Amino acid sequence: MVREGIFIRGNMENASNAQHELFKEFDATELYCPKCKKAVRVRKRLLLVLPEGDEYEYLCAYCSTSVGTKIVKNTQQVSIIV
Ligand SMILES: [Zn+2]
Repeated sequence: MVREGIFIRGNMENASNAQHELFKEFDATELYCPKCKKAVRVRKRLLLVLPEGDEYEYLCAYCSTSVGTKIVKNTQQVSIIV
């Protein structure tokens, strides 16, 4: 009976795709991680505070590899340059 329990757990892994949507609430941002070789959830870390805004670094949630940075500009200085 114990072995059956293990088999059931194995089947539970198939449900991980459904859980993926729940994780999106945690952080909607997904970036490509060169180490994991797929789009991964990321953690945002404040890197620098710049005059024009705060620079954040995105780290892979799985292997903590830096996958990119983003400057979140201060709302006071809204520039419409795209
Ligand atoms: Zn990774």
